[in-house]
Amino acid sequence: MDETRHNWTKEAILEIYNKPLMELLYEAATIHRLRHDPNTVQVSTLVSIKTGGCSEDCGYCPQAARYHTNIEGNALMSVQQVKAQALRAKASGSSRVCMGAAWRNVKDGKAFDQVLEMVRTINKLDMEVCCTLGMITENQAKRLAEAGLYAYNHNLDTSEDYYKEVISTRGYQDRLDTIGNVRKTNVTVCSGGIIGMGETVEDRAGMLVALSTLNPQPESTPINALVAVEGTPLEDQKPVSIWDMVRMVATTRIVMPETQVRLSAGRTQMSREGQALCFFAGANSIFAGDTLLTTPNPDINEDMDMFKLLGLTPQKPFIKKGQPETVEASQSQYQALEEKPKWTRPKHVIERNELAKEKGKSLKL
Ligand code: SF4
Repeated sequence: MDETRHNWTKEAILEIYNKPLMELLYEAATIHRLRHDPNTVQVSTLVSIKTGGCSEDCGYCPQAARYHTNIEGNALMSVQQVKAQALRAKASGSSRVCMGAAWRNVKDGKAFDQVLEMVRTINKLDMEVCCTLGMITENQAKRLAEAGLYAYNHNLDTSEDYYKEVISTRGYQDRLDTIGNVRKTNVTVCSGGIIGMGETVEDRAGMLVALSTLNPQPESTPINALVAVEGTPLEDQKPVSIWDMVRMVATTRIVMPETQVRLSAGRTQMSREGQALCFFAGANSIFAGDTLLTTPNPDINEDMDMFKLLGLTPQKPFIKKGQPETVEASQSQYQALEEKPKWTRPKHVIERNELAKEKGKSLKL
């Protein structure tokens, strides 16, 4: 019987988040032990298959074309390039490859066909394949599932209220609709957010309400600490405290007991002791590799040293769910529909995004 609760309220989540720390840790660690092996951590490698030049205005993101950051954009990688990176990731202990493309949404055509081929290729390496490609339609989700996709990542980022302070080029409902489209397939959902963007604790709880009331809850939830990149609207944000990170991880573990809680961006700012506390509080997944799309991340050897120190073991692939089958492109039952879904563009004015855009323009002159 699924004992997971789906009717969480902001008040109930805040009560958990604000508990005395030792109580919070004890409760989270107890739930973690009941539902997961506490000494196993799933390791993913993130590959930026298409970097930079994005049309969106996400206030935290150095890949948005409108801001002036030191990101060098590149065209979509080839299938062979991605395969080579996946093989290296597998050899170093990763069970999952997550392919990220700086797109607003997926468009049917050559580039998407190439991504589908990447999915087929990596699934055949017996690794879990995840994609994060922006908004997708139901048909696109089905084509990814048929290629052998294991997970689709689409973060809610923050609460619905605070989302409007960070992004103006798309709405929260678009995110939920994309997650809904993924749920029409057997692909698992990876969705989480970022703390340290200037949001309140209520916003953090609001994001957890949005995630935990999904039924089923996401199989994976990344908790990122903002890496404030120069040139982005959030460049002046102070690094989030480790105590906030531990509280967020522990609260996520309690309200989403089956979910793999993913310690994501911002780990370079955390000590090993801090990360150990996060694992104790219920984090059971990390991203490995020295960059996370475009921001720094601990070296894989450093992570393996930390695992040894803490007695942690990388999780084998397909432990939580069986390996999907891959259908070859020539056998596919789905066609490219060339749909033009009406994803929203609220376009309200976010002052700090506008300022960063103007600064970007003047620096590019
Ligand atoms: S987070 Fe994604 S959608 Fe937003 S600007 Fe960056 S690459 Fe584009």
